[in-house]
Amino acid sequence: MSDGPIEFADIDWTTNDVPFSRRFRDVYFSSDDGLGESRHVFLAGNSLPDAWRSRRIFSICETGFGTGLNFLAAWDLWRGSKPDGGHLHFVSVERYPLRRVDIARALARWPSLNELSARLVSVYPDPATGFHRLLVADDVTLTLILMDAAPGLSALEATIDAWFLDGFAPATNSDMWRKPVLDNLSRLSRPGATFATFTVAGLVRRQLTQLGFEVEKRPGFGRKREMLCGTFRGTRRSTLQQPWYCSAPVSHKRRALIIGAGIAGVSSAAALMRRGWRVTLVDRGGAIASGASGNPRAVLAPRVAVDPTPRDLFYPAAFRFAAGFVRATDAPGLDATGVLSLATTPQETARQERVAAHALLPKSLVQHVDARTASEIAGLKLSCPALYFPGLGSLRTRDHCEWLAQACEVLFNRDVTALAHDGEEWVLRTRSGELVAKAPTVIVANGIGALEFSYCSFLPLQAFEGQVGRVEPTPASEDLRCVLNFSHYITPAHDGLHTIGASYRPVDPQQHRHSSDWSANDHARIVKGLQRISRQGFSFGAPPADARWTGLRCTTPDRHPVVGPLPDFGAYCKDYKGLIHGQKGDYPAARYHTGLYVHLALGSQGFLSAPLAAELLASQICGEPWPVERRVADSLHPARFIVRGLKRGSIDPDARTCTASHKG
Ligand code: SAM
Repeated sequence: MSDGPIEFADIDWTTNDVPFSRRFRDVYFSSDDGLGESRHVFLAGNSLPDAWRSRRIFSICETGFGTGLNFLAAWDLWRGSKPDGGHLHFVSVERYPLRRVDIARALARWPSLNELSARLVSVYPDPATGFHRLLVADDVTLTLILMDAAPGLSALEATIDAWFLDGFAPATNSDMWRKPVLDNLSRLSRPGATFATFTVAGLVRRQLTQLGFEVEKRPGFGRKREMLCGTFRGTRRSTLQQPWYCSAPVSHKRRALIIGAGIAGVSSAAALMRRGWRVTLVDRGGAIASGASGNPRAVLAPRVAVDPTPRDLFYPAAFRFAAGFVRATDAPGLDATGVLSLATTPQETARQERVAAHALLPKSLVQHVDARTASEIAGLKLSCPALYFPGLGSLRTRDHCEWLAQACEVLFNRDVTALAHDGEEWVLRTRSGELVAKAPTVIVANGIGALEFSYCSFLPLQAFEGQVGRVEPTPASEDLRCVLNFSHYITPAHDGLHTIGASYRPVDPQQHRHSSDWSANDHARIVKGLQRISRQGFSFGAPPADARWTGLRCTTPDRHPVVGPLPDFGAYCKDYKGLIHGQKGDYPAARYHTGLYVHLALGSQGFLSAPLAAELLASQICGEPWPVERRVADSLHPARFIVRGLKRGSIDPDARTCTASHKG
């Protein structure tokens, strides 16, 4: 369901300029006083602001985002009454999103909300199916789930404090009030969570009562006699189909150490600092991004699949989030020249056509263009069609990483090789035993270096050496205006030099944890690859010594990042031993090394993947609604290798060892 096409809301405007849904034959809000109704039914109905006064994180979930009026009403109230250091998470599911212009028009009737509605309109996503995490303000995050309510809410992982049930009346829209939607209320509600809705329909009342809510009728708004609200007194119904991927305990001591100051580490640091955490980055180098993330210029060329598996769904979501993040924060470093991902074979052409027809990325982010249009965009003659990513380009990695790590304490030149728990905190030491730092939460984000830590040694991390060069333009290449990407890439000349890359050579991570010297052979291979695009124009000589770069990228056999709480390998072998025989049954919840997390294996997509991966990790650590579908988070989970290994028999649960095949 998450990959179906988006259908926009089909609306008319009433004589009072209120949006009216033709599909549901109903108005989005009362034409008398929509804001008053929203405040009465949803805010007062959920005892706001009192309910959030003592909470650092308060999460609201709404069925039916519509114009965003309820969201703005909640945000407006939050501004004046939020607890110190508090953060409001507003999650809303919407199957038929309104267009941006219609949202602006609907909300324009409340000048007091102008500032907030302008902000909402500016972050409102171009339509694409799936989860959209929007950083609306420093203390307000909106997660818009553009999906049908039943699969959309079922994919959500969150602990909800208040529900706004607003999906048109049950008589006209029964789908919104059926069991597959409402069951999620008992799955996601915190004990004592509340709900409010304008309807008093018997069916709704009965279902909510059955789910464990104490339900109460209250006077409705305006001409409506009654409304319904209630409090969750039941037990949270866990639906752990895969207990090995369940959430880790939330951390309340807001202090973290992050090992590795590359893009994974600095993105994680930025995500935690936005949440008021004290973070220290520790790196063995002498500068931010001194390892693989220090590639002089990273090319942002998203991987987009056609029939997306949960794994592949991560990339469009990450790309959408990264694009929104750059817009929302003015993050520096991006030269948005556009990227053409060229289809150099008929198979790739067919694949790209299918990608373009898909609903996971809006046209504002990706377009399919023929060879002529591609040539016009590039400024030189190309003979193949391409996917065009207009907002992307290449990133000055250092500038970007330094900006993310600003205001963060950094300990340079500390080669942490030992990680141990002293009963209270994680303790980091160098090889010689020197104490580096201690904290209750640690994120391991140092790529292949993670294999130094025994806790991580079950992870099948692989290393690939990558080489990049900066070369002088030739007469035929100097007109290049955007990044060309296929099996190799070339950027337009920046500061008089193109960046060309990249090699991808496997190395043994046990032997080789530092990149080796620049190789003339690799350079020759890159230039030969580029010549497939332009024989005369792309014959580059060797770059000068100060324009050569090599680094070690970290990846996995499934070429997917590893992000989440770190499993206790021994406990998994014991608890999930039955998986080897395909035994179904009641398995216990996962056991993790409390407070220990990883953010690893971003491969060559780090600058696009890290912002969303870090947002997911921070949400998991802090107990906030997750920014991606549960199955997408599962695809990134570090325990996937243990679960697969046990099922396939490549892990011996009694000996608690992995065979070579587990390591891929
Ligand atoms: N809360 C909104 C506001 O503040 O403007 C008004 C919501 S309007 C009454 C109901 C919304 O539910 C509509 O936007 C409609 O498209 C959405 N909706 C209806 N059926 C849905 C479904 N099955 N899944 C998700 N959204 C649905």
